[in-house]
Amino acid sequence: MYIYQYINMSKKVLVVEDEIELLDFYDKMLTAEDYTVYRSETGKKAIDIFDKEDPKIIIMDIKLPDISGIEVTRYIKEKSSDAIIIAVSAYGEKLKEAVNAGAYTLVQKPFLQKELISLIKDLTQSSETIKDEAIDVSFTKKRVPSSLTRVAFDAVITNMGEGSLRILLKKTNLDRYIGNLPPHDDSPSITVDEYIILIQTIFDIFGQKGAKAILYICGKEGFKNSLKHNPALFGVAGVALKFMSNEKKKKFILEKVLKKLEEIFGNVHILEEDQSYFYIKLPECPYCKGQKSDSPICYTPIGFYEEVIKWATGKSEKVEQIQCIAMGHENCVFKISK
Ligand SMILES: [Zn+2]
Repeated sequence: MYIYQYINMSKKVLVVEDEIELLDFYDKMLTAEDYTVYRSETGKKAIDIFDKEDPKIIIMDIKLPDISGIEVTRYIKEKSSDAIIIAVSAYGEKLKEAVNAGAYTLVQKPFLQKELISLIKDLTQSSETIKDEAIDVSFTKKRVPSSLTRVAFDAVITNMGEGSLRILLKKTNLDRYIGNLPPHDDSPSITVDEYIILIQTIFDIFGQKGAKAILYICGKEGFKNSLKHNPALFGVAGVALKFMSNEKKKKFILEKVLKKLEEIFGNVHILEEDQSYFYIKLPECPYCKGQKSDSPICYTPIGFYEEVIKWATGKSEKVEQIQCIAMGHENCVFKISK
């Protein structure tokens, strides 16, 4: 389903940008790299140029003076499904709309010039750098089940576009998964260390806001997808909770799931409780390792625990992270009502 396209022949780039200085900057930068650059300050002119020149790479500012870059994106994708559109915007929400309209990847202003040029080069290069390395399963390090890695990759595609996943995989040396997503099963995939680097790189590339959207979904889908494809993974297959109180249900299922997570990721999960709440305590946390923040940022386990609770009780409720190692606390701690 996710096929990556490469353009070897066309070096035509259409740049749609209403800020003249920025347009000049793209023009200079791309011309220096031997690209043929077509410039447009408006959506209408962009469509005219596109119809005439058929460029395969388009840098598209979302906010234009006449018609929106999202509409132009839609137009181009309808006429030429293999066109690669890089949506550029200062507005996070609009970027999501651009992905839905068919943008291949997103760049948020302000961006680094070097990043953008390497992105364009990467998209126009042939695929010779892609190796099909066999996974060494004899490796002693813990490996994350494929289904959990897959939901992380899918969450990036859904929120940020296929091109963003490609960039992420290149940056994290996980090229072997480009165009070759891991299956929805518990076969071994990336190592826990690679998983940690993946999360760190998601923060680096997409910022805290972008990372939040991706990682929260990743946690939710991590549990939901496992139930669908591999219910044995978290030990909840065939579990009957019918005659228990909600509090008992929660405790029973949390104990099971936390034990499994401990086996998968190799870090201690402590379940504590007081009169009103359960607390999940992680003295070592793969989700915020190496990060510094003013607020809690372990979005994956929040999404994950919320789905676990919903599955056990049939009701949606929020899980709150009350301490985070990234904030300087000793543990990451999550609070769940009884
Ligand atoms: Zn954490």
